[in-house]
Amino acid sequence: MDSRKIYACKDHVEDAMDDFINYEETFPIIEEVKGVKCNYCENDSCYIIKSKE
Ligand SMILES: [Zn+2]
Repeated sequence: MDSRKIYACKDHVEDAMDDFINYEETFPIIEEVKGVKCNYCENDSCYIIKSKE
C-alpha cells in the first residue's frame, strides 16, 4: 500500500489515519473523494488521507 495516499470509507478513516501517522510520523490532511475503493474493505471510499505535499 502506498502509505502517502490511503483511501478509506467512513468505517475505516480512523484506521487509515493511524496507519498514516505510523508510516509518516506526521498528521495527514483528509479530503472527500468518490468512486475509489476503500483500502481496507470492499466499500467505496469517502475520504483520501494524504500528506500535505
Ligand atoms: Zn472500509
